[in-house]
Amino acid sequence: MRRIMVVYGTRPEAIKVAPLVTALRESHHFSPTVVVTGQHRELLDQVNDLFDIKPDVDLGILRPGQSLGQLTELAVHGLDPVMARERPDAVVVQGDTTTTFTGALTAFYHRIPVVHLEAGLRTDDVFSPYPEEVNRRLTATLTRLHLAPTVGSRNNLLRESVPPESVLVIGNTVIDALVQASRMVVPQQDPPELDGDRPIMVVTAHRRESWDGGMESIGRALSRIATEEPDLRIIFPIHPNPVIRRAVLPHLRGHPNITVTEPLEYGAFARLLGRAHLVLTDSGGIQEEAPTLGKPVLVMRDITERPEAVSAGTVALVGTDEDRIVSGVTHLLRSPAAYRRMANAVNPYGDGHAAERAVAALDHLFGLGPRPEPFCPRPAGDPS
Ligand code: UDP
Repeated sequence: MRRIMVVYGTRPEAIKVAPLVTALRESHHFSPTVVVTGQHRELLDQVNDLFDIKPDVDLGILRPGQSLGQLTELAVHGLDPVMARERPDAVVVQGDTTTTFTGALTAFYHRIPVVHLEAGLRTDDVFSPYPEEVNRRLTATLTRLHLAPTVGSRNNLLRESVPPESVLVIGNTVIDALVQASRMVVPQQDPPELDGDRPIMVVTAHRRESWDGGMESIGRALSRIATEEPDLRIIFPIHPNPVIRRAVLPHLRGHPNITVTEPLEYGAFARLLGRAHLVLTDSGGIQEEAPTLGKPVLVMRDITERPEAVSAGTVALVGTDEDRIVSGVTHLLRSPAAYRRMANAVNPYGDGHAAERAVAALDHLFGLGPRPEPFCPRPAGDPS
């Protein structure tokens, strides 16, 4: 058995690696070792519990108010002895966090091949998202096998002179996770507002580049929308980061149609998305999940590394400007034609089989199987 070390640290990484950890456990050639840095704490643990993943190593590197430099230092310091001791055959990292970059860097220092899941996303602006765009580029430099979610992300890598034979398009494992979570029977944690038939708008916001003014603007926009659209229920599972809470919460008080909750466990959040009329977010993962469920997504960023969803028509960018957010939401609520156009798009991100392709790509990396067929999105209703 080849030993594959899977390194991750935040909720979105946990959601996207969970299907791969499960597929590795079920494979005949590989045994996974799970190492979490704990860059997020409760949010990470919730997802591991849901998918029944018990980390073999938990570095617990989160400290209150720590800088990116301190996070990087603690992650490398924690990962270095683990990789020296375990000497896995490959290290898998996912996405674009500080954990992703430091996992790849430490593996490289130990000459262990790096496999990058969700490789090749780019905005070409190093400060948006910050620091994720640079984390992705640095990780690509250190990677042996690039598992790209789409043809667009593959092309981004080829433009950076990555050899084509080291890139495989597999779709995004977030769709595998969404499909698996929606099938699970989990304890009911749904917000009570899910009962009833008033339209629901789900809101999430966490991006670091919006900490400087953007979050206040989002709060003001939500307050105006709540007043102008009294029939709309706004449900906002708020990120635990105190910087975000301090900026947004004062604007949301006194609105009976705004419900602020703690972050929802993934199964409950997937159900909430399924019940939503529309989604207002700055999240990357939600831009990929919502098309599977046929939900329009307004993205509170000026730029996205997920242009496929914008081209497919299911995602539109509204930035963090108060007026643009308000007019984007009211337009969708009042124009059934605009709503239908966004809700009926093809999902460019996956078919729920990305983790299988990732394991097949690992087989190929170790000379244990043929190169797998790439993921190719099919129009809705195409049974082939
Ligand atoms: N999510 C969740 N509970 C919540 C809010 C989001 O489980 O209360 C999930 C969501 O479905 C998506 C992921 O968390 O899969 C997105 O995380 P986030 O927006 O923090 O990160 P990003 O995707 O932008 O990296």
